[in-house]
Amino acid sequence: MVYPTHPKYILSNRPFGEPMAQRTREIYKPGDIETNLVGVTSQHLARNLSQLGIPAVHARTLFRRMYKDLAAEPWADPTLPRGLAAHLRAYGRLELPTIKKALRSGYDQSVKFLLELSDGREIEAVLMPEKARLTLCLSSQVGCAQACVFCHTGRMGLTRQLSAGEIVGQLLLAQRWLADNTDWLQAVRLAPETRISNVVFMGMGEPLDNVNAVNQAVTIMTDPYGLALGLAHISVSTAGHLDGIRELYAAHPKARLALSVHSAFDSKRSRIMPINRRWPLAEVVAWLREHLGADGPPVMFQYTMIAGVNDSDEDSEALAALTVGLNAKINLIPLNDVATSRLAAPDPGRIQAFRDHLHRRGIRVMVRYSKGQDIAAACGQLVAIESKAKADLN
Ligand code: SAH
Repeated sequence: MVYPTHPKYILSNRPFGEPMAQRTREIYKPGDIETNLVGVTSQHLARNLSQLGIPAVHARTLFRRMYKDLAAEPWADPTLPRGLAAHLRAYGRLELPTIKKALRSGYDQSVKFLLELSDGREIEAVLMPEKARLTLCLSSQVGCAQACVFCHTGRMGLTRQLSAGEIVGQLLLAQRWLADNTDWLQAVRLAPETRISNVVFMGMGEPLDNVNAVNQAVTIMTDPYGLALGLAHISVSTAGHLDGIRELYAAHPKARLALSVHSAFDSKRSRIMPINRRWPLAEVVAWLREHLGADGPPVMFQYTMIAGVNDSDEDSEALAALTVGLNAKINLIPLNDVATSRLAAPDPGRIQAFRDHLHRRGIRVMVRYSKGQDIAAACGQLVAIESKAKADLN
């Protein structure tokens, strides 16, 4: 039997509203609806299946086939009802971004993926080995609206939001790349079956400016029948989008937040991060203190160090004061060169002094160097370089 149903009722994220009779009269027009299986939650799939009288358990099967087995045709499974399998084969798609380039760093082995979306837009994702961990840094938007002065992506402006499917797609794609490139796993001394263990939303975009898609992507990534990542292994990095922070914690109370601080001083922060004018850092931190507190989930303070801008003793003193009342850790990130800007990283001695100062205050602090320096892995750099090369050719 073939289900007499428009495929969007199986795959779409819209709830069923219309009576069955009306639904069955709909005629399928290819291309006019969203039929991508990537980006649909298993709960949604289960609900839609059961409303069609198909056992909801098959949603789990599809999830397992897609995300655990990395099947290209998840509907090709002998345990699925034949009608459902035929229906999905005919109407469903498993669409992922395509890899335009995968650049391996000879320096720390990280891999930068330049990815093309279905509309030709480009984003990037970076795979980073760290001892036994395998972290994927992924993008949440094409470009970014926040315009932080030291950030490459910030210079591009926002082109569009990514869908949940395009966010999850980056992870699924990287996972498949790993399965096809076991030599790389060998080179980084990881077992051939190693899976991506951590996700950080630190690629292009401000994830909390696209919070609905990010929340949905996190739901899918943590699904026990799919990728089954722990919430503690997913970090959402934000420039301080307070409305988004509220929505993130409403959906995922145990989410891990990375807060890009870069200056604890209000006027200075507003100069380098315009978002501070909308949501001043003090307001963001007050909300976190009230809702997470010192015993809550850890909050990672990201602090990009810029010579002569935010690297004085006074700056570290103010930064230390910010961490009070939170389960905070600090990452100091020496500025990664933005070729077109006059900003530079402080010299190593200054970075050490800054770090030691925080350390003496009993604060957990690490200096982190950007991965993949030789493949321009920091924040929108590769896409920026690619677009420049294209412009040069024209
Ligand atoms: N929009 C989010 C996530 C993307 S940026 C955010 O602001 O957190 C991820 C991190 O990289 C942020 O902490 C950002 O401030 C930092 N970053 C951006 N450009 C950088 C550069 N040139 N050098 C070092 N860190 C940079």
